[in-house]
Amino acid sequence: MKIKGLEMGSIGTNCYVVSDDNNICAIIDCDGNPKPLFDYVEANQLTPTHILLTHGHFDHIGAVEVVKEKYGCHVIACEKEREVLENPSVNVSSFSGFPISLLADSYCKEGDIITVGDLNFTVMETPGHTVGSVCFVIEDAIFSGDTLFLGSCGRTDFPTGDWNTILQSLQRLKNLEKDYVVYPGHGPATTLANERVSNPYM
Ligand SMILES: [Zn+2]
Repeated sequence: MKIKGLEMGSIGTNCYVVSDDNNICAIIDCDGNPKPLFDYVEANQLTPTHILLTHGHFDHIGAVEVVKEKYGCHVIACEKEREVLENPSVNVSSFSGFPISLLADSYCKEGDIITVGDLNFTVMETPGHTVGSVCFVIEDAIFSGDTLFLGSCGRTDFPTGDWNTILQSLQRLKNLEKDYVVYPGHGPATTLANERVSNPYM
């Protein structure tokens, strides 16, 4: 498994490309100008088959349609995130000036395994930042979206956000058994071990 982070989104959102040994890859969140993604895919001769969405906010989904069109990717989000994806007021895109309404191709839930080539992502529902926020867990990596950041966590003052709920989700992450590398939706990667001892919201 190879992980590449691209800070591509309209407000510095991370887009991750996770590829297997046969160059099949999943794209996790996808916003902004996708040229760095296209360049990386071409340079490494990758075949993107899936776009996995940690949640439906505008700064994580703005490039989904164009990337899907280019590669024919299958788009997956949490079933509880449907309204966020579809409603520009709820996904906050209406305030950014470019309203987005997005339909996923399929919807996932807690405990689902999403298979992409040789890669198996486990879905962990971590609501709070939005109602259908998820983390994707694979091997020793967690893609945490806007639930968990280095030293911080996502805000909960947007529609469907809830502070007590995100605190519960952060406790679930804290209580995972082993250590993981955490790849957040914004900012640098960290480890769960580091966040357990230094993140004030955990
Ligand atoms: Zn967000």
